[in-house]
Amino acid sequence: MSETTSRYLLEQLIGFATVSRDSNLELIEFVRDYLAQLDVECELFYNAERTKANLFATIGPRDRGGIVLSGHTDVVPVDGQAWSFDPFKLSEKEGRLYGRGTADMKGYLASVLAAVPLFVEAELQIPVHLAFSYDEEVGCLGVRPMLAVLEKRKHKPLLCLIGEPTGLKPVLGHKGKLAMRCQVIGAPCHSAYAPYGVNAIQYAARLINRLEEIGERLAQPEHHDARFDPPYSTVQTGVIKGGRALNIVPAECEFDFEVRALPGFDANEVAEDLQTYAQAELLPRMRAVQSDVDILLEPLSEYPGLATPPDSETARILAMLCGSEEFGTVAFGTEGGLFNHAGIPTVVCGPGSMDQGHKPDEYVTIEQLRGCDSMMERIARYAAGPMPAIG
Ligand SMILES: [Zn+2]
Repeated sequence: MSETTSRYLLEQLIGFATVSRDSNLELIEFVRDYLAQLDVECELFYNAERTKANLFATIGPRDRGGIVLSGHTDVVPVDGQAWSFDPFKLSEKEGRLYGRGTADMKGYLASVLAAVPLFVEAELQIPVHLAFSYDEEVGCLGVRPMLAVLEKRKHKPLLCLIGEPTGLKPVLGHKGKLAMRCQVIGAPCHSAYAPYGVNAIQYAARLINRLEEIGERLAQPEHHDARFDPPYSTVQTGVIKGGRALNIVPAECEFDFEVRALPGFDANEVAEDLQTYAQAELLPRMRAVQSDVDILLEPLSEYPGLATPPDSETARILAMLCGSEEFGTVAFGTEGGLFNHAGIPTVVCGPGSMDQGHKPDEYVTIEQLRGCDSMMERIARYAAGPMPAIG
């Protein structure tokens, strides 16, 4: 088979418009068929509607845990973005490969697939697992059912390498995220009689203020972790809706907020604080006017932070595989938090930069793609043992 270069495979992968809202099955079937030609079997984990699937494959021995090469197959939409190239057709210009998902993160997937013949020939002592997921861009949702199965297997993976774009620098940490919706149900009346109603917008404002106070508390120096930017957990309100007309006391107001939590800080503490404040301070006042009013909190999405200790043996191996000991952190979230949470030490390291991710004219350089191919060669050598010296 000649068509196994990362460049050729990237071209194929970019051609599947796997925007999160649409099916990823054509891409998954392409990967399944490609692997089948190399005598690699895979398992597919479908969603309930069978419109999307995760793919999991193992190369090498099956009686021990191995190295997971993990990435998501979905991409963010291109709606409303001004592209100079067709986003779903790979274009090359001045050493850059353009297309939706080239950086985030089909470049990595292409490099992993291109290395499969190498893994197959290498007589691996440590197995290499491929874990390709869906619905990452909408809250790391798709990978969860696959992880639930892997966690229960007798031979749990040893390590996980997630190829989100980090310029091929190993990243051992990122913040976790909790997104929530708060709904305030007030009581409407003519605005001339405002005190007889319960103004949902005004109570929502108090709740939002409370969130800001919590954020200020979390920003105090004693909570800082200098590895992150900003070095503390943050809280912000991003969407608000409420009211119908100025002369009606608003009956409802809804707002969405998120917590970006340092690893080790439980973002749910923020939601609990808000709940307690609502119960103790606001609801009694609201109910003194009208009884059928309420404040409801609902989680929208959540993923844990990632914090692999940089001085661990695992980190040493990961640094060798990634070809760099310059450990960093990133601001964006990944599926790494979930792998880590499942007890699988994880590093994020992939070609390209998130500066290009999610934007028009997204690209990965040919140099970065080649760098990723070299990383795959190091992984093949390491997994084939004996363990090479670092450096
Ligand atoms: Zn991504």
